[in-house]
Amino acid sequence: MKAIVYNSLGSLGLSDLEMPALASGMVRVKTAACGLCHTDIDVLHGRYGNSSFPVVPGHEYSGIVEEVGEAVTSVSAGDRVVVDPNISCGHCRACRRGLRNLCETLQAYGVTTNGGFAEHSVVSEANIVPIGDMPFNLAALAEPLGCVLNGIGEIETKGAANAVVVGAGPIGLLMALALKDAGIPDVSVVDIDEGRLDFVRTLGLNAILSAPDTLASMERSVDVVVDATGVPAVVEGLFNLVANGGNVLFFGVCPPDSRISISPFDIFRRQIRVAGAHSLNHNIPEALAVLRRSGEAMSKIISHELPLSDIASYLDGPHGGGSMKVQYKAF
Ligand SMILES: [Zn+2]
Ligand SMILES: [Zn+2]
Repeated sequence: MKAIVYNSLGSLGLSDLEMPALASGMVRVKTAACGLCHTDIDVLHGRYGNSSFPVVPGHEYSGIVEEVGEAVTSVSAGDRVVVDPNISCGHCRACRRGLRNLCETLQAYGVTTNGGFAEHSVVSEANIVPIGDMPFNLAALAEPLGCVLNGIGEIETKGAANAVVVGAGPIGLLMALALKDAGIPDVSVVDIDEGRLDFVRTLGLNAILSAPDTLASMERSVDVVVDATGVPAVVEGLFNLVANGGNVLFFGVCPPDSRISISPFDIFRRQIRVAGAHSLNHNIPEALAVLRRSGEAMSKIISHELPLSDIASYLDGPHGGGSMKVQYKAF
């Protein structure tokens, strides 16, 4: 079968692999759609995961069950499914508290174990979620949306009148649409790119060009503020936007060694909730429910549906502008 393989740090290729063998408790999935994520590029360059090369990347994918191993009872051949990539140990301190996404030895399909940028993959039954008749490309958004919902679960959205997401990339837009789906009436996206802001408006969201004056006029007026840029200076500025009693969510991936300056007095006196969120913690079923309600706008985020060879060059080279969510489309 054809697959993208990360052979070693920074080196990838399109390869012919043996069909993966099925074992007890495992399910073989024929990939239908697999989203490309910044994490895939971080894995290639050793910035995420444990660099267990060779590995097939791709952790945002849907497909059809082809064959099930012994002892598999919840799915059968022909089922349309999506994969929850996280593999947790089940017995470390975080796992015992139900925080599977924070497992001390967290592994994942497409990160430490072969994933979705291949014609087929073998996945544990525990990582399979049926999607019914949902289109495969939409279902492949369930993983990034699951990360978004894990983040929203860490803040208080009840009673929030407005939200601002900084960063109009695919994950920022999924976040903004999910905040709207969660009942926040006024959701805005801030970015420095006019082209992206034009696109934001087509999704029914407010678009705000990032400029010192505009941001100053919004001072202390936003109930939910989310960073989706991973730029430390942007994160620092969010504390000016958040209203008293509001929430600041750190959702973008800042460099591990970066530091920002914040006022602990401010957080105390203005009762600001500061939250972080990593990956997803069994949020796929909830994500599928949100996609059933708000999938029309969310599906617009998919800008490219490409064969594996084109995905390989996306992972390898400089990325042209104008793309949102890029997906491998097998059929
Ligand atoms: Zn991802
Ligand atoms: Zn664990």
